[in-house]
Amino acid sequence: MATRAIVIGGSMAGLLTARVLAEFFDTVTIIERDTLPDGPEYRHGVPQGRHVHALLAQGQQIMETLFPGLDEDFVEIGAPRLTWGIDTAYMTSGGWLRRFNTGINVNQMSRVALEFLIRRRLQRHHPNVTFVTNSVVDSLVAEGDRVTGVRYTPHEGQATTMEADLVVDASGRNSKAPEWLKTLGYDVPSETVVKSYIGYATRWYEMPDNPPDWRILFIQADTRRQILRGAALFEVEGGRWLATLGGVNKDYPPTDEEGFLAFARTLRTPVFYDAIKDAKPLSPIYGYRIEGNRLRHFEKLARQPERFIAVGDAVCAFNPLYGQGMTVAAIEALLLRSMLAKANPANLDGFARTFHREVARAIRNAWLLATGEDLRYPGTEGAKPGAADRFVQWYTDRVLEVMPYDETITRAFTQVANLAASPTAMLRPSFALRVLRHQLRQQGISAVNSPGEVPPRLS
Ligand SMILES: Cc1cc2nc3c(=O)[nH]c(=O)nc-3n(C[C@H](O)[C@H](O)[C@H](O)COP(=O)(O)OP(=O)(O)OC[C@H]3O[C@@H](n4cnc5c(N)ncnc54)[C@H](O)[C@@H]3O)c2cc1C
Repeated sequence: MATRAIVIGGSMAGLLTARVLAEFFDTVTIIERDTLPDGPEYRHGVPQGRHVHALLAQGQQIMETLFPGLDEDFVEIGAPRLTWGIDTAYMTSGGWLRRFNTGINVNQMSRVALEFLIRRRLQRHHPNVTFVTNSVVDSLVAEGDRVTGVRYTPHEGQATTMEADLVVDASGRNSKAPEWLKTLGYDVPSETVVKSYIGYATRWYEMPDNPPDWRILFIQADTRRQILRGAALFEVEGGRWLATLGGVNKDYPPTDEEGFLAFARTLRTPVFYDAIKDAKPLSPIYGYRIEGNRLRHFEKLARQPERFIAVGDAVCAFNPLYGQGMTVAAIEALLLRSMLAKANPANLDGFARTFHREVARAIRNAWLLATGEDLRYPGTEGAKPGAADRFVQWYTDRVLEVMPYDETITRAFTQVANLAASPTAMLRPSFALRVLRHQLRQQGISAVNSPGEVPPRLS
């Protein structure tokens, strides 16, 4: 008998999941609330689409594995190909990173362009994936302990039931999965919440004729000096700059022109302000506010229905400043693929529980990276750092301090930040000794990196 999977939500996590499911199910149906545009355009269901979205190296690699030829699409739309270290000017709390060839390459583009290219590949190369758009999923349908489909309502039409052998929730950070489970008589998954109260303000600019020698600029906050403001400026397709200001602990960047520029002037370095002050704006200033990080523990549910799983932001929504969400969704898609390869799609009993356990394990590093930083801010609410977290924070500070002086350490950090290596790589004895040697050799190391410096030249 033909098998069907349903994916709720057609954004990054939904598209990547559908691509994997297409290998195992006869039909995959994505049910999406929005109309999906025919080009790289903004839509309401993804309000973050106007803001800077870093595609980490690990995420890009997985996407290219799932969609061979995607790199050609990046070239087609003119998404710049960048090398971390050469094309990036990156100020951490320890100062500007050295600029050298780390060997880590990525393309950068707007979020709307990336989603459009992935959707186009899915539509062109996977005919068993179909879209039901302009339709909101209202609830899960179940028989006994098994989800058998969903109930959805088209914007213009009657509520309908669609049956499926597997239902995947990819409806994002505002997912109604907890309510849907409760209605079916299950417990609501417990949550770990770390609220750092983040604000974004983003403006698009035309790139100047004589751009700087970097193509991506990152200015991080500096928790040790209680500077809670940062910024990112990305070159994206179409010769445009995406310039985002960020603040944590409710230090929200303003969305009026004067306020935006004034906030930019208060950053740790004038480089961002100097870049945008005479650049030609192409858009208004868009704002976005988020409470912080939220992890739903589906894996801890004592009882959970068969044949219903959740992915992407519906499971774990991060503080976006670390650029991890899309890459984590890609990691989960690969995990799903390897688990389905060992399962029988016609009999998935026990699959949901195992999948949620594996997802919890897979996102652990990304969660620790994001929340470990957020917990340093004085106004962050939620889980408090334990002794182990405090040690990691202390050690990370030491690593950040010596990175401007050491390419090996910088390369390792860049891999971890790109989710291409586990943070434990930085705890290996040889690595820790290297950090320690620098610390002993260079007393007062952070004073060398005065915040006002311009990015170092390429070495
Ligand atoms: C300001 C900001 C900046 C970010 N920056 C980065 C970054 O630099 N790098 C990075 O990797 N990630 C970043 N992220 C995170 C990234 O956007 C998400 O992790 C990524 O989009 C995956 O999300 P998702 O597909 O799970 O959910 P979303 O992208 O939120 O999509 C959910 C989809 O489900 C649909 N939907 C919702 N409810 C229903 C329903 N009931 N029925 C049908 N459809 C429904 C919505 O319309 C939408 O299409 C950022 C997030 C924010 C907020």
